[in-house]
Amino acid sequence: MIRIAIANQKGGVGKTTSAINLATAFAAAGWRTLLIDLDPQGNASTGVGVPASAREYSTYDLLLGEATLAECAMETSIPGLHLLAATVDLSGAEVELVSVDGRTDKLRKGLARGSERYDICFIDCPPSLGLLTLNALSAADTVLVPLQCEFFALEGLSQLLQTVERVQQRFNADLGIIGIALTMFDRRNRLTDQVSDDVRSCLGKLVFDTEIPRNVRLSEAPSHGMPALIYDQHCSGSRAYLALARELISRLPENRKAA
Ligand code: ADP
Ligand code: MG
Repeated sequence: MIRIAIANQKGGVGKTTSAINLATAFAAAGWRTLLIDLDPQGNASTGVGVPASAREYSTYDLLLGEATLAECAMETSIPGLHLLAATVDLSGAEVELVSVDGRTDKLRKGLARGSERYDICFIDCPPSLGLLTLNALSAADTVLVPLQCEFFALEGLSQLLQTVERVQQRFNADLGIIGIALTMFDRRNRLTDQVSDDVRSCLGKLVFDTEIPRNVRLSEAPSHGMPALIYDQHCSGSRAYLALARELISRLPENRKAA
């Protein structure tokens, strides 16, 4: 199973929207896909149509070693897509894990058994660089960073890149960064264009060619409990996420693309 953490400590930059729609795109392409909701807010879980009342087990149970992946992962109404849901318990995990041995290693351990049932997983991180995100980065093969083109974007990014480096040094030497995806892109806004140019000249090929446009369909879809890619597969946002999924596949190591 290829493990991709979707991380950025800023809130509202498109992590969850990217996790939901990339996971849906991969599932639609025939990849056995797992979406891991690691944000206590549970927006990824709701966004793939699993309301709080339907979540029996959660990522919390897996992190605390109270249930196996096979027990915790649930089917969604989207063929080929399973979910490790988030429940409010998860907000306590950040504190509870502090006193636990190997506290950054809990997700990796939880995923060790049963992951052969999946080709790929996307881990939707909370908006912080706390223990939950550290668990995601320790468990992941690579990180995808959604970046909103706004004034302080690069500043937040350097903090995230430092965290990735620390995780590489201490917990997960093989952790890579598969790319930075520019989100909520608005061509009519000059600041967006300028920030995009800055990010591209600063980070070069790390930035995906695909830009995710600001698109109201992307923000409407979660209230219908559906990924945008199912709610309206022809909207500009859905088309952009399909293009991003293709670009992501082209960046995966050769021998792991077969599915
Ligand atoms: P994060 O997980 O980083 O906090 P979200 O994916 O939840 O960010 O996005 C924050 C808000 O912006 C949500 O209401 C979401 O529906 C909306 N949103 C995300 N991406 C877009 C986009 N490209 N265009 C319009 N709205 C978007
Ligand atoms: Mg989110």
